[in-house]
Amino acid sequence: MSKKIWVHAEVADGKIANVTYELLSKAYDLAGEMGDGTEVEATLVGSGLEEEAGHLARFGAKKIYLADDSKLKLYSPVIYAPILADLAAANSPEIYIFGATATGSALGPAVAARLKTGMAAHCVNLLLDERKQLKALVPSFGGKVIGEILCPSKLPQMASVKPGIFVKKDPVPMPKRVEKVDLGVYEKLFDAKGLEAVGVVRRPPEGLPLNEAQVVLCGGYGIGSQENWNTLEKLAHLLGGATASTRPAVDEGWTGEHNMVGTSGQSIRPKVYIGFGISGATHHICGMNESGVVISVNRDEESPIFQVSDFLVQGDVNVILPALLEAVKSEME
Ligand SMILES: Cc1cc2nc3c(=O)[nH]c(=O)nc-3n(C[C@H](O)[C@H](O)[C@H](O)COP(=O)(O)OP(=O)(O)OC[C@H]3O[C@@H](n4cnc5c(N)ncnc54)[C@H](O)[C@@H]3O)c2cc1C
Repeated sequence: MSKKIWVHAEVADGKIANVTYELLSKAYDLAGEMGDGTEVEATLVGSGLEEEAGHLARFGAKKIYLADDSKLKLYSPVIYAPILADLAAANSPEIYIFGATATGSALGPAVAARLKTGMAAHCVNLLLDERKQLKALVPSFGGKVIGEILCPSKLPQMASVKPGIFVKKDPVPMPKRVEKVDLGVYEKLFDAKGLEAVGVVRRPPEGLPLNEAQVVLCGGYGIGSQENWNTLEKLAHLLGGATASTRPAVDEGWTGEHNMVGTSGQSIRPKVYIGFGISGATHHICGMNESGVVISVNRDEESPIFQVSDFLVQGDVNVILPALLEAVKSEME
């Protein structure tokens, strides 16, 4: 029997989330490297998803395991995890990949625990080692090294990857082949009271969504103050762009977590990324290193961010940021 790489298809507002297509594209490449007719398959849980399953086939999923029921409309780990774990136990995929999203980050480990296997979370790349086993790359030790996570003695080898890390490629269409999951055995779980999802409330986006901005101004710990952060916001607004941040800028309370970039934040690919007071830790770099032109302002000439920058500005943010704002303002007058 040929080996299988599984991707769990995430659903948002009744549609397959983009991260799923990114993961399918990567899974397809890995399947090619594994050889021996390795197939890509997908799991899909929700309500009224028959049509959406067709999109997964168009993106290379040879088979889709579909658990579809009105009671599965809203994500609940209590019901989703046993369904997916039972499916994996019955079909033995070699690799099982989830999006490192809010739901995928909870669901993946819950499935892994049931299968008594391991899961590499928030990976920045997925490779195969010389034995064609999964080698998941995860920043470690504060982002100073990239750890290689292997799971050599348990199957499936599981991993989660954030949206935006892999590129959604042109689909490799497959005929739609859906296997409906028999949900009869889960009736008791459906009826059990306990953790129950009752609705979804989405926070409205503030300003231009980060992943759509062509110009991103990113502030790090070196920004130094709320006042400087506000200047960064004004500058981004004038340039028609968006602001992004590193973890310390969030921790300082200058901005919210919604626009953090990196392993625990978003992955972005703007045409222009300008970083102010950012050291260049791997946890951050892995979320912005696909940007077009990278310009960095840092007072330390040996800062690692300079190694991934096209233009380096060695200087003090306290001087450069207000001067830049004034220069852009006067240019626009
Ligand atoms: C599990 C885990 C997940 C993480 N996920 C993320 C993530 O998703 N995103 C993320 O960003 N981080 C993440 N981190 C944190 C990450 O490891 C780094 O600590 C962080 O990216 C460093 O942010 P920074 O560059 O703003 O701060 P610092 O490393 O403190 O760098 C500040 C820089 O500013 C410069 N500077 C200081 N003052 C000035 C000035 N006046 N003018 C000019 N330059 C100045 C300094 O020279 C220095 O280079 C994570 C950490 C862990 C452990």
